[in-house]
Amino acid sequence: MIDICVNLQNSQFGDDQSEILERSAQAGITGILACATDLDMVSANKVLCEYAENEKNWPQLLTTAGVHPHDAQTWKDSDSKRLRELSKHRLVSAIGECGLDFNRNFSEPAAQRRAFQAQIEVASETTLPIFVHDRDSQGEVLHWLTQPIQPLSIIVHCFTGSAEELDNYLNADCYIGITGWLCDEARGGALRELVGLIPDNRIMIETDGPFLRPHNAPENARMFPDTLAALKKYRRRNEPALLPFVLNQLAELRGQSPQELGQLCSANAQRLFGFDTGD
Ligand SMILES: [Zn+2]
Repeated sequence: MIDICVNLQNSQFGDDQSEILERSAQAGITGILACATDLDMVSANKVLCEYAENEKNWPQLLTTAGVHPHDAQTWKDSDSKRLRELSKHRLVSAIGECGLDFNRNFSEPAAQRRAFQAQIEVASETTLPIFVHDRDSQGEVLHWLTQPIQPLSIIVHCFTGSAEELDNYLNADCYIGITGWLCDEARGGALRELVGLIPDNRIMIETDGPFLRPHNAPENARMFPDTLAALKKYRRRNEPALLPFVLNQLAELRGQSPQELGQLCSANAQRLFGFDTGD
């Protein structure tokens, strides 16, 4: 099983990163796409991904390279060149996480558009897939992705949009990433109605850890009886070992067995990002 979005450099993973990777492998996670949200993080992820190649008890790690819409105000013209250089590394498997987030607007919309357009250009040039974040863009993310300069392939991660947005993304041949948002009784209702519409060859799963802990998982202190997991500050932390809870909920909604769906999602992630996890 491959988790296509984990924010491994997040400070919530600082204390016990190697334990988290070990127990994800024990939970059946064979591959992780480490998500980068700024260009310095790409370098940190590369070091971690290379290190993972010699750790038998860890999943295979690959990384994205890009700047998140929250950090878009840091984007400089020279960053296109820097991103192009960074993306040449063999363990960089996608451009991103990039896109538009008009829900929180941590960066000005104009800065978000500028950084996103520049990263679309790099994705197009390099032919790497683009790893997209869309929160409340009202169709604008797809608008920019379907201009004459286009990425070869698109993955819309943590999809939480409407039926119309899903339809439009699927018509544009996008892959769709589903998180534990699905397991949230209060917020996940609309998404639960839609996940059955995603074709088998377009669906992927992700934890987006340490965020979006699946609500159907037992509390961390019971799941992971170690001192760190039991700490109050980590009680709500999500991690790749919790991916099976997302998988089980998604499989039930789609009328598939978790095993079958896990294999479909892994095959899609292997094909798009180049994992060679053999599951
Ligand atoms: Zn995101």
